[in-house]
Amino acid sequence: MHSFEYHHGEMYCEQVPVSRVAKELGTPCYIYSHATLVRHFHAYDSAFKNIPHVIAFAMKANSNLAILRMMAKEGSGADIVSGGELFRALKAGVPASKIVFAGVGKSPEEIRDALKADILMFNVESSAEIHAINEVAASVGKRARIALRINPDVDPKTHPYISTGMKKSKFGIASDRALEEYKMASSLSHTDVVGVHAHIGSQLTDVTPFVDSLKKVVALIDTLKRQGINIRYLNIGGGLGITYSEEKPPLPQELADAVSPLVKDLGLTLVMEPGRVIVGNAGILVIKALYEKAGETKHFVIVDAAMNDLIRPSLYGAYHEIRPVNEEAIRRTKQTVDIVGPVCESGDFLAKDRSLPSVKPGDLLAVMSAGAYGFVMASNYNSRPRVPEVLVKGGEFHVIRDRETYDDLVRGERIPSFLNETE
Ligand SMILES: *Cc1c(COP(=O)(O)O)cnc(C)c1O
Repeated sequence: MHSFEYHHGEMYCEQVPVSRVAKELGTPCYIYSHATLVRHFHAYDSAFKNIPHVIAFAMKANSNLAILRMMAKEGSGADIVSGGELFRALKAGVPASKIVFAGVGKSPEEIRDALKADILMFNVESSAEIHAINEVAASVGKRARIALRINPDVDPKTHPYISTGMKKSKFGIASDRALEEYKMASSLSHTDVVGVHAHIGSQLTDVTPFVDSLKKVVALIDTLKRQGINIRYLNIGGGLGITYSEEKPPLPQELADAVSPLVKDLGLTLVMEPGRVIVGNAGILVIKALYEKAGETKHFVIVDAAMNDLIRPSLYGAYHEIRPVNEEAIRRTKQTVDIVGPVCESGDFLAKDRSLPSVKPGDLLAVMSAGAYGFVMASNYNSRPRVPEVLVKGGEFHVIRDRETYDDLVRGERIPSFLNETE
């Protein structure tokens, strides 16, 4: 469910015509719906209302300060994966007591900063990292709360690039080594072992992998208890999928219904890290058609956005629905086209072999479901300034990130003096 619908012959975001934003800010631009974000967060939060829980929004999906502030106001914490994300989360007002820190390569500086901020816990991904965290904690005179990220070896049946809980994955600690690592961690001087974490992948469209993973984790918690290691937090990660095309992912309530029976009597606090399911369908990328071009075998529509603005199609072969902003255009004859950008790479496309009502130069198009892993993955490749982000609330829109300028492109670059010397 989202708030991008046609009224009076054109697409609106809540009560704001998409064309109005495009006219004032130019294209491309990202537009997010406040109402949709709030609704998605509460759907997740209320689904788990019968179990003590913390929702730590996976901010790598969308880390704009305004989005984070909004989430924090609704009661969300943050799942971070870098020192930069810690900085953003704190700046946006996310309480440190609701921040969890994942990632296989945390540096000593990042660990120190997170300890100083007193985050809820580290989700630790290897034996070596447990030692590193303990050492940094000792050096700053603190105790680190940790959860071990367990690799439950279940196949989430999603794209291999976003599948994280199988044996061959770089993430987590193999389940058969977990007990040993827990014992070791419990013996350390500046470490408090408080949790178990498992995040098996992204864009999951079935609850079965969640349940399979959880069963393994619950069995582990039981074993740990018998060894005198008492776990307080059970982190089930994120990963719930969304509808990009025809997918029918479970609703948060269905996930909660499947998960609750397994955890409700354990006396634990659940931690959850949804990302995509909160922001994915709350955002669109608005683009403009520039040219049409009939290739030898293909018909191309060249638009003003490219892989540097939204890389998911190029990186994962991801499908994003593309809709005309002007409703009348829906009734035009259909054509099979490739929607491609100006970047000098054959991999630069937003849609391939897509049957769309014919597009004319100047038409505005909405690339749907672009709120997650959209702007955050944008780059300046081909020296293209990154595009603005806009948050719509009711009948108003707010620019939450300016379009970059050419000066922004060269910020921090220097020409060494020897290059200025004349021969
Ligand atoms: C990416 C990630 C998430 C969020 O995944 P979504 O599919 O966006 O919900 C949660 N936890 C961890 C550890 C992640 O790496």
